Amino acid sequence: MNQKLAEARILAARKMPYMTHQVMTLIPVERPGLNTMAVDEYCRLYFDPAFLEGRDLTHLSFVVLHEAIHVWSKHARRGVRLLGEKPAADRLDLWRLAVDAAVNDVLEQSGLPCPEEGVTPAKLDLPRNKSAEEYFDLLLQRAAEQQQQQQQQGESEQSSEGEGQSETGDEQSGEGEGQPDASQIGGSAADGQPRPWEDGPPSAEHPGMDEHEQNLVEAAVAKAIENYQQQRGRGSVPGGLARAAADLLRPKVDPARELLAKVKYAVGCTSGFGDFTYRKPNRRQPAGGALLPAHVKPIPRVTVVVDTSGSMEQHDLALALGVIGNALRSLPDPRGLRVLAGDTAVACAKNVFRPEQIELAGGGGTDMSAMIVAAAEERPAPKAILVVTDGYTGWPREPVGPRVVVCLTQAYMADSVPKWMDTVVLNPGE
Ligand SMILES: [Zn+2]
Repeated sequence: MNQKLAEARILAARKMPYMTHQVMTLIPVERPGLNTMAVDEYCRLYFDPAFLEGRDLTHLSFVVLHEAIHVWSKHARRGVRLLGEKPAADRLDLWRLAVDAAVNDVLEQSGLPCPEEGVTPAKLDLPRNKSAEEYFDLLLQRAAEQQQQQQQQGESEQSSEGEGQSETGDEQSGEGEGQPDASQIGGSAADGQPRPWEDGPPSAEHPGMDEHEQNLVEAAVAKAIENYQQQRGRGSVPGGLARAAADLLRPKVDPARELLAKVKYAVGCTSGFGDFTYRKPNRRQPAGGALLPAHVKPIPRVTVVVDTSGSMEQHDLALALGVIGNALRSLPDPRGLRVLAGDTAVACAKNVFRPEQIELAGGGGTDMSAMIVAAAEERPAPKAILVVTDGYTGWPREPVGPRVVVCLTQAYMADSVPKWMDTVVLNPGE
């Protein structure tokens, strides 16, 4: 272990305490001749001892934090998502500028001065506090504008004289001389593009962190960021990091996916919902029970109960049809989807294959308890009952047998649903 690198890491952790876990889990790999520090997608920190010798600890701690933030921000995955697996060189260069501007902006906001060679929003003449994707868009827009200007200039120059040609040609090769190839600066953690000097996926010989281990560190750092901000107040953590931590700890819930997960649990699938591979019966189960022969895979029946009482407005009924549409797509049951609709008693019971087959008539007072009991008593019995309602209803006092998932069209009625049922709020934003 390089002593100077160890000291730089400790200083880095002291300057940004919430990044400690990320900084300390970077795996140092010595690469003489690299002339820099860089981090790959597996949290390996490559360093050139000569590079360390020539710089003070303040400078080195900045570089260590810079690399740690690339990893924590998942710039590799985000770059591939934005640009694809094999991006064009010019777009890749813009992404590399964009991520470095975003990282160094965060570091400068924490009071750490950026070394001379570092890219910052100010040096690029861009606003502060933007995400890497936003910087990329701004840079791309500018490049397009410049290209257009050059084209127009080129056209007017061509019409007069062709003098400036050799100058512009020399400029490009002249500036690049003596500098490392831009495509080799930094590591794959910034853009998801493996470098020739990296060790590749983790192995016994070249240990690295896999995605699962990285996710654990990522969550620990997000928690540390939130704690730090709670203790020291708003603004103590740069806005970009605080936002990213909050998104990570409280991801936006997609009601359709949540509903699918709850139904999947209710019908006891072990693999994909809709592919009808179910939990195998326990071999030690005594013979003569109600188990079906092993080769029979019964399709679990799901019944949808729709509240059509007067309080259900057009918008609530539209959400109900959405649930039915989702259930039809996820459970392609040859018998159709069982749907019971009504207000205080079942007014319409049908097997449907398309949402349009349902008549959502009704309009009286509401009591879902009788309808839920009726659904549970049907034969063959459903494995799960989905109840779509605004929540202005009575409920059965005790469990009815099949699992019941309540799909609420009104978020504020969630507390009134008995605890033995699962609840999904279909429009959490309202
Ligand atoms: Zn970088």
